[in-house]
Amino acid sequence: MIKPGSTIGMLGSGQLGRMFVHAAQQMGYGVHVYSPGTNTPAGHAANLEITAAYDDLDACRTFARQVDVVTLEFENVPVETVEAISDITPVHPGRQVLEVARNRVKEKTTLQNLGLPVPDFAVVHKAEDAVEFVKSRGELGAVLKSAESGYDGKGQARVRSADDAAETLESIGGGPAIIEEFVPYDFELSVISSRSSTGEFRSFDPILNMHENHILDVSVSPSSRVSPQLRAELVEIAESLMASLDVIGVLCVEFFFTKDGRVLINEIAPRPHNSGHLTIEACVTSQFEQQVRAVCGLPLGSTELITGAAMANLLGQHLPDADVQFERLMQCPTAKLHLYGKVQPNVNRKMGHITVTAECADTAEAQVREARASMLAAAATENLPVQES
Ligand code: ADP
Repeated sequence: MIKPGSTIGMLGSGQLGRMFVHAAQQMGYGVHVYSPGTNTPAGHAANLEITAAYDDLDACRTFARQVDVVTLEFENVPVETVEAISDITPVHPGRQVLEVARNRVKEKTTLQNLGLPVPDFAVVHKAEDAVEFVKSRGELGAVLKSAESGYDGKGQARVRSADDAAETLESIGGGPAIIEEFVPYDFELSVISSRSSTGEFRSFDPILNMHENHILDVSVSPSSRVSPQLRAELVEIAESLMASLDVIGVLCVEFFFTKDGRVLINEIAPRPHNSGHLTIEACVTSQFEQQVRAVCGLPLGSTELITGAAMANLLGQHLPDADVQFERLMQCPTAKLHLYGKVQPNVNRKMGHITVTAECADTAEAQVREARASMLAAAATENLPVQES
């Protein structure tokens, strides 16, 4: 067990790292944050912000020697980095799940090989592969997704006809990619599970997610759409995946629930997830505290939901530059504001979020939407640049 008072290393320095730092420090740990950035959301909060490239293996080794365990907030850390650090100090989650989660071809193939439900898909190396797949689909067509580095809908595009396939593949940067059926889903859910180095599992209640322009917009829990049977089915999938991929830490599984009652896995992320931010206010243990507990080998905390809750993301376009809008937000007495300390409010850049708790999740959702809208009313957004990365 890595006891409170020890130091945890964090690869990555965005908002997930920042909220991890808050949870870890509350429990008496120190956190060193490593990323190529300076003045970062996690770096502001950390005991030490290390600025170096992920492929600077000497810097990685120095970082590794100064901490007792290393965790991460994103899956695109180079394999060589994880290996260099693992030679010195444990890295959780480890290489096996990172390799699967960072590459959509490996991800979908692995899930399928494990017998888990995924949308119909094919691996695309050249345009003909995509053409063949689209021909086999109905009028809903398909979605092309680049194998690596896609997030918030980047690197993916809908293909409606075989004639468009080649051009669409080019627009996402060519192969390797996957093409999958367009799923006319009824709703989207995520399940966040945790597994500690002692093998213990705990899962949070499924969270209902609503997207705008492929970016998470609002999350709600509990959802009346999740029956006890569905909950058990989703949790069983998430926990079996953690065991199969030997994940130590936190794993989020995103699901589509189709109109004809099928559950399909969209993607996995071996770390806390945007949809789990409401666990900070709504659950006995937050997803970030759970990551601390899991990677340090502490017993896992209770995932019990103690209240209904809803979270709304604050993107660059939602953020005002005048204090008056924050006053409006704070007029909702149950709204909890989280800002990540990012300076430039680009369009679609995740700047923060708001969580509202209420006994009834529908009430929480209505209030969080109203609280955000009250800020938006006067925000001038026309001249903001669009977030590129
Ligand atoms: P990212 O990793 O960029 O967030 P996702 O694969 O999670 O990409 O897709 C983002 C959103 O796009 C999903 O939450 C969903 O709303 C929509 N989407 C993705 N794949 C499909 C699909 N096959 N059918 C229908 N909608 C999809």
